[in-house]
Amino acid sequence: MKIIEIETIWLRVPPLNEPCEWGEDALIVRIHTDTGLVGVGETDSSPSVVKALIEMPASHETCQGLRQLLIGENPLEIDRLWKKMVRGSEYVGRRGAAIHAISALDIALWDIAGQHYGVPVHTLLGGKHRDRIAAYGTFIPKPDEIANRHIVRELMAQGLKCIKLGGGGFGEDLSADKALLKVIREEIGEDVKLQIDLVGRWRNYANALTQCDALRDFNLNWIEEPLPSDDSEGLLRLSQQCGIRVSGGEGLATRHEFKAFLAETRPAIVQPDITRCGGISEMRHIDELARQYGAQLVPHGFSTGILLAATVHFMAASEAGELIEYSQSDSPLFRDLVKNLIPLQNGYVRVPDKPGLGVELDEEVIDRYRVRF
Ligand code: MG
Repeated sequence: MKIIEIETIWLRVPPLNEPCEWGEDALIVRIHTDTGLVGVGETDSSPSVVKALIEMPASHETCQGLRQLLIGENPLEIDRLWKKMVRGSEYVGRRGAAIHAISALDIALWDIAGQHYGVPVHTLLGGKHRDRIAAYGTFIPKPDEIANRHIVRELMAQGLKCIKLGGGGFGEDLSADKALLKVIREEIGEDVKLQIDLVGRWRNYANALTQCDALRDFNLNWIEEPLPSDDSEGLLRLSQQCGIRVSGGEGLATRHEFKAFLAETRPAIVQPDITRCGGISEMRHIDELARQYGAQLVPHGFSTGILLAATVHFMAASEAGELIEYSQSDSPLFRDLVKNLIPLQNGYVRVPDKPGLGVELDEEVIDRYRVRF
């Protein structure tokens, strides 16, 4: 079997000149083989940058486009191809967007391998530890209270026992944050777990500690990315002293960044995004690192049903894969792109058993939201 073509498909809901929210754009890839098998992957990154990294012509040996590195190769040789892509993109890569692009391609290679061998990806990864995985729901708060109460009631109706909010203006004004959390706690009661995502908005360690103290009554399950990601010293002190679990890592790529993050900041929870960290292949190394450093791995995931499927297969095959994020975005790229989107049922997702990732894409959705030049 040989790779004969790679499609990079940039999807976007709003027009290019209008604001775009998390979940409203995506870069998906399709790897075509000479046997007719097609693998699907995605990265939750900047679609235009990733598209360039895949399609660009080579400048020299360590600055090559990823498409060119894969054409003609056997897609089943995933580990060798992963290393070939990293090595061939070293000058523009090693971290960040090039690893995001490799993540999408890696996921598509695993999808092809599963289809070729006639087994789900979680079987290729060594076998599933569970048939269903508990999910937590993430939402971006709206400016008005009634809307937020409505969102939270809908989350509860899906059987969720754990929810997270972040984004919008959250983290910018402590009194507004307290007012919002009071409303949310009123709606969910004391038994549902509640975590917050600061997206690095608290200014520094001292400021973060003050805010943690002010929010202590809301019994937070974790605080996510409380500080700018390069403030390792502040994050370490906060992890050790604030008394609330600290999480982070959704923007990191490769085992090397995760090792430094785990060693330097000692988070309770580490949150790689399988479409950014280096794909399914690299997630295995990060899962092992999390175990070594005593952190719980709870992956980030807020994009299409392709990301969701890759995450679910991985977490099913991870011994510690007990909690995943389930997007509450109403973007058609989450709701409709994958025709057989893995549903949330009474707070859990069922682990699929079809070969590969088992996702079927809706060509009409692709056609409607595809960015064309
Ligand atoms: Mg986050």
